[in-house]
Amino acid sequence: MNLAPARIGLDQWDHRYRELIAAGLREPFYGGPLRRHLLDGDLRLRSLRFDNSPAALRLWNLLLSEEDRLFEARRKGKVIIATMKDLGSVPILAFSIPNTIAFYPDGAWWVPCIMEQSTCDLKIADERGIDESFCPVRAMLGAFVSGEHFPRPDLITCSVGATCDDFSAIAQRLESLGWPIFWWEIPARRCPEAGEDEVELPGGFLAPGPQVRHVAAELERVKGAIESAAGQKLEAAMLCEGIRKANRVRRLLSELRRLVFTAATCPLPALELLIAEMLAIHYCSDRNETIEVYEDLLCEVRRRVGMGQGVLDDGTARVFWVNPVADLRAMNLLEECGGRLCGTEFLFCHALDEIPENLPPMEALARMALADPMVGPAEDRARRICREARELGAEAIVISRIPGASHCATEGSMIRRIASAALDVPVLEIEVPPISDAISAALRNRLEALVETVHQRRNA
Ligand code: SF4
Repeated sequence: MNLAPARIGLDQWDHRYRELIAAGLREPFYGGPLRRHLLDGDLRLRSLRFDNSPAALRLWNLLLSEEDRLFEARRKGKVIIATMKDLGSVPILAFSIPNTIAFYPDGAWWVPCIMEQSTCDLKIADERGIDESFCPVRAMLGAFVSGEHFPRPDLITCSVGATCDDFSAIAQRLESLGWPIFWWEIPARRCPEAGEDEVELPGGFLAPGPQVRHVAAELERVKGAIESAAGQKLEAAMLCEGIRKANRVRRLLSELRRLVFTAATCPLPALELLIAEMLAIHYCSDRNETIEVYEDLLCEVRRRVGMGQGVLDDGTARVFWVNPVADLRAMNLLEECGGRLCGTEFLFCHALDEIPENLPPMEALARMALADPMVGPAEDRARRICREARELGAEAIVISRIPGASHCATEGSMIRRIASAALDVPVLEIEVPPISDAISAALRNRLEALVETVHQRRNA
């Protein structure tokens, strides 16, 4: 049942859901009305506006049912791997073994937002010395201790080396509380030196061959730990198939992003695009459903683009957004202020790039892991942002700082300086806390001023 695309609130979704069911909507096993998640405690849903398509409903339901799915996986005896501080590498290893799934405990980052701080996760973290001087990922510590958001994993992996101070400290605290962690090292990416072989990584960064080989050896160790937890060998052919599936996910998302960023009329809201991107890292603990969710979204977006339909007025300011927002409401706010996404860099662009399929699989994964924008110099990250913002015709850049995040103190201003010098567009730096209501008026003012600047420049 196709309606004109729109962004609607939860009350309107109640009505819309009844209409869709009456019209014969078929849903996957985790389907249902959005409101049930509110009743389960996801209070922030009251403040959000959502896309009105069945494809978006499926996306939200996949995201918001992950906790239930993880507990169900535990009941069914699946092997559960918690992949901490990992943006897309270890989940590929885990999902390549039957009956084994990975999830991303760092995803608890959004619990204080989604549940409007109604849970005890932050209090638990506070009591264990991880206070609000840390970024919102400290909620993960509370989630492990409370056991409310995910079951105790069979294996916890965590990368060290080129890892932010916040996460290193929190993961070490977690281990001290009795959660054994399998640590693996990802070194800080550096430029190849004279005499070293030079390896081009997915996305275009360069790394020295010895670093690639070191990460491949580290991932080989991770593979051994997963095999022990799963009680099965991960043969090379299985991993190659896992990489092919990961690339299928990435190609679908890449096409979705291309259409959303380049269509004359914006065919999908920023909020749904952000959620869709997050699925690519860890598949929301269900890779097959992630693929189907993407296929549905693509189908809807293609239909809208074909009919020239969208969710925003034509002529909205084209904004390239840097860093994920701790409060999902900020994505709605951008659109209320007259902006639309024309590009994103949510800290994990390497998890969107295709993984080479013509290399030994572990080397391919190592190249991808080293392409993480957070393990290299901030200048590399800034240059990639500039390149993509230019290609996508960005009229403004928003750098959204994460409160307490150790890297944001200097990185944001560095990206702003480089982007301001390289691109002839206004660059705005803001900070978005997990619940931004108290500063919403100030954020609105700043975003509206940015959009107004874009319009003035168009008319100049
Ligand atoms: S400081 Fe940044 S990179 Fe580190 S956990 Fe927080 S958001 Fe992630």
